[in-house]
Amino acid sequence: MSAKYSAVCSTTRLFSRYVSGLPSRPRLCRWAVQEHGQQRHFSNGRNHRMMEMSGFSEEQLSVRDAIQKICAQFPNEYWQQHDQSETDPKELHAALAADGWLGIALPEEFGGAGLGISEATMMLQTISQSGAGMAGAQSIHANVYATQPLARFGNKDQLESTIPNIINGKWRVCFGVTEPNTGLDTLRLRTTATRQGDKYIITGQKIWITCAQVASKMILLARTTPLEEVKKPSEGLSMFCIDIDRSNPALELKKIKKMGGRAVDANEVFFDHYEIPANTLIGEEGQGFKIILHGMNAERCLLAGEALGLGYAALEKASRYARERVVFGRPIGKNQAIAHPLADAYMNLEAAKLATYHAARLYDQSKTDKSITPHAVGVACNSAKYIAAEAAFKACERAVMTHGGMGYAMEYDVERYLRECFVPRIAPISREMILNFVSEKVLELPRSY
Ligand SMILES: Cc1cc2nc3c(=O)[nH]c(=O)nc-3n(C[C@H](O)[C@H](O)[C@H](O)COP(=O)(O)OP(=O)(O)OC[C@H]3O[C@@H](n4cnc5c(N)ncnc54)[C@H](O)[C@@H]3O)c2cc1C
Repeated sequence: MSAKYSAVCSTTRLFSRYVSGLPSRPRLCRWAVQEHGQQRHFSNGRNHRMMEMSGFSEEQLSVRDAIQKICAQFPNEYWQQHDQSETDPKELHAALAADGWLGIALPEEFGGAGLGISEATMMLQTISQSGAGMAGAQSIHANVYATQPLARFGNKDQLESTIPNIINGKWRVCFGVTEPNTGLDTLRLRTTATRQGDKYIITGQKIWITCAQVASKMILLARTTPLEEVKKPSEGLSMFCIDIDRSNPALELKKIKKMGGRAVDANEVFFDHYEIPANTLIGEEGQGFKIILHGMNAERCLLAGEALGLGYAALEKASRYARERVVFGRPIGKNQAIAHPLADAYMNLEAAKLATYHAARLYDQSKTDKSITPHAVGVACNSAKYIAAEAAFKACERAVMTHGGMGYAMEYDVERYLRECFVPRIAPISREMILNFVSEKVLELPRSY
């Protein structure tokens, strides 16, 4: 057990927090391993044993056990209802915050657990796999990854005033990058932040901003130097951690009606001369793109984990149904036309799992091991997100088809999983752009756009 881990998991400290019920850092402690060490699978069903767990670290296994216990309070019916009523799953956010999980990958000096993206990916996979799907994962996703650039490049005042409030659940966070007119061409985004004395004035539009209706803070990427005045489009962008003041008429949020993950909101956001204090700038002005890159690879890993969770959840539902549903006097799973696609989906998920946790490990190790290049990390994280999203899609599609007509019924959940599994294929970067990236950066083919 590493020194860092031991420090996080001081048995006495965590035990006393456990007994008193006080909010604490994640309960990643020895007692958790001892208490559940013999049965490292989820308590609420065999689905979570489907994924082969060999080779994961003690930390990852402990995360999985503890998060599963929290998620067990939120059954599939909770997610069905929240999806149908488009109601924010604030109880899950609160439960995770109460036990300190929102700070899993944030620095210990500000109340975080100081663990890595390898553990955070396991956390988000576990949430998704519990039946919460993308909606559950997305309700806390930005708190975990959008805060990474803030933690790394923010100044002491910014960190002291924000990070503890994000970890304790007082403030939720959203991430404002995508724009309607520029889409994946992020470097050409048009939202401007213009310095005026001790303020910046924000004008422009963002789209698809998840959780903006419930967040207190937005990590915003905006242009501070016009595109025409910079040498490269990656220059002149800046990152801010801003308040979302919904009472300010200079800020407007419009909810987008969407296909899946309806429990979490997604929004158009309009800034019309919205004033923010100059001290909300993260790092140096003009360095926003470099700063944001720091969070992007982490986000790819988290999304890959979320996709895996959805895929395994769907596959378990499908295999259970295939064992139990009898037609023509035999379980439908006896037909190879049903069994083989499920076996194929399983192997795809297992391969994606290896790619995902390999990428997360490279991401974490690259912080101290300088032989791991940013290129290697970027390729691994992008590849993992692509492979996991495709594997999840295959599993979810097969799960619906295995259920026949019942696959279309809300009660069986797989239709919800299928609707949600498009998200990791599209966001935060589409599968086509990952193929472009690998073609250019690995295969050295001419850039196509
Ligand atoms: C549910 C959901 C939640 C989201 N949450 C957030 C959020 O919280 N914050 C945020 O900032 N954004 C968020 N997004 C936005 C998301 O990151 C973008 O939708 C995604 O990056 C794709 O951008 P776009 O929709 O503008 O697609 P476009 O850029 O319009 O692309 C459309 C299609 O064209 C393809 N295409 C474009 N250019 C090329 C090319 N050169 N070569 C090949 N194919 C190409 C794309 O792959 C895609 O299939 C979210 C999106 C969704 C659906």
